Amino acid sequence: MTAARRLDRLFCERALLAGGWASGVLLRFDAQGMIAGLEAGLDAPPAGAERAAGPVVPGMPNLHSHAFQRAMVGLTERSGPAEDSFWTWREVMYGFVGRIDPDSLQAVAAMAYAEMLERGYTSVAEFHYLHHDAAGRPYADVAETSKRILAAADAAGIGLTHLPVLYAQGGFGGQPAGEGQRRFLNDPDRLLAIVEACRAAPGGHRTGLALHSLRAVSPDAMAAALNGLSALDPAAPVHIHIAEQTAEVDACLAWSGRRPVEWLLDRGWLGPSWCLVHATHVTPDEVAGIAASGAVAGLCPTTEADLGDGLFPARDFLARGGRFGVGSDSQVIIDAAEELRLLEFGQRLAARRRNLLAPEAGASTGAALYRAAVAGGAQALGLPEPAGGLATGQRADLVVLNPDDPRLYGRNDDMLLDSYVFAGARDAVRDVVAGGRLVVRDGRHVDADAIRKGWRHAVDRLNAA
Ligand SMILES: [Zn+2]
Repeated sequence: MTAARRLDRLFCERALLAGGWASGVLLRFDAQGMIAGLEAGLDAPPAGAERAAGPVVPGMPNLHSHAFQRAMVGLTERSGPAEDSFWTWREVMYGFVGRIDPDSLQAVAAMAYAEMLERGYTSVAEFHYLHHDAAGRPYADVAETSKRILAAADAAGIGLTHLPVLYAQGGFGGQPAGEGQRRFLNDPDRLLAIVEACRAAPGGHRTGLALHSLRAVSPDAMAAALNGLSALDPAAPVHIHIAEQTAEVDACLAWSGRRPVEWLLDRGWLGPSWCLVHATHVTPDEVAGIAASGAVAGLCPTTEADLGDGLFPARDFLARGGRFGVGSDSQVIIDAAEELRLLEFGQRLAARRRNLLAPEAGASTGAALYRAAVAGGAQALGLPEPAGGLATGQRADLVVLNPDDPRLYGRNDDMLLDSYVFAGARDAVRDVVAGGRLVVRDGRHVDADAIRKGWRHAVDRLNAA
């Protein structure tokens, strides 16, 4: 468990609330790390209340993470003998996966989670498919690696929505899994046993479930897993990788005659507890279908750029009232603001225009993106009271922006968020409170030394393996 100090009250000169920016805000946190009370308009902090060192915004939920991939960063950026793509990246990842054991997984995940906190994320949805040993045999405890993820989240003090992933076949139509995939494989019953073990574990984490992709799970296995989850918790989050690659769209068409998102929409399963990760290659009808379902689009712009996936039609989706959040996915970059920046920049590069994702003329693009991603991310993680600002009943997750950062100096309210999203760098995040604990102070995780030591040890062992 993190040594981070628990706060019971925080006075904010200026804070972004669900209803907008407010002055003189006093937040009260309960012992479970929730916002139990909120008053605005106070002239001065009450005696004894801690004072935020800068403007306060809600922390960003990270809706898509594969923590172990943090240790792969930099290993996939050399061109191969043939054309490189997502699929050649995947081969490198499979080779890397074979070297990870539970100890290194836990140390790498703790490092990734500490970095997330330092860069503005206060909670994370872990899309976890590395279940078994290198030979594909379950550990003595079938939930061993999931429990290592829970322990890493506790060590860093980040909020966790754990999503054990169902991965059951090598490709569409029941193709057998390859050697590189054997650590991932479960049938629905064994996956649900992992889900139940995580639900029973201490620590107050949320548990949902993920279907790896349409290619990795048969329709019957999907239905069995969803029924099993719904019996445990009908509102639990369900995430799926979908339409990330055109080759996947083509294979899905060959298998079913439908595009991936069309196939899912046809099932009638989608709703607000769903998160469609990537959804990059979608038609206007699919865009409309996702938006109407209330599901969240899980966008990971830096990973999608790194992997050469393509560009999600964000303008059309937002114009239809679609909900979205952002994720650090492959961890090539861990930075909440940078995901939003690249989301907007991608649209600008494609359309050769500016400020494309602002909701109306004159509105702040940075503030609109930030607020929408906080609300959509919280929905995707199954957090209470999702909104684009702080409110009573939410987890006490907040970021104190750094008033001494030259890029933020002299900027207020929405303009401050424009500076943070479009120009913010390492210094922009000063302090971070996650679940009511002060986990980052002056830009550095409070347990950074111990977590970095564990990380270096894990990297040395991975390099030697
Ligand atoms: Zn992913």
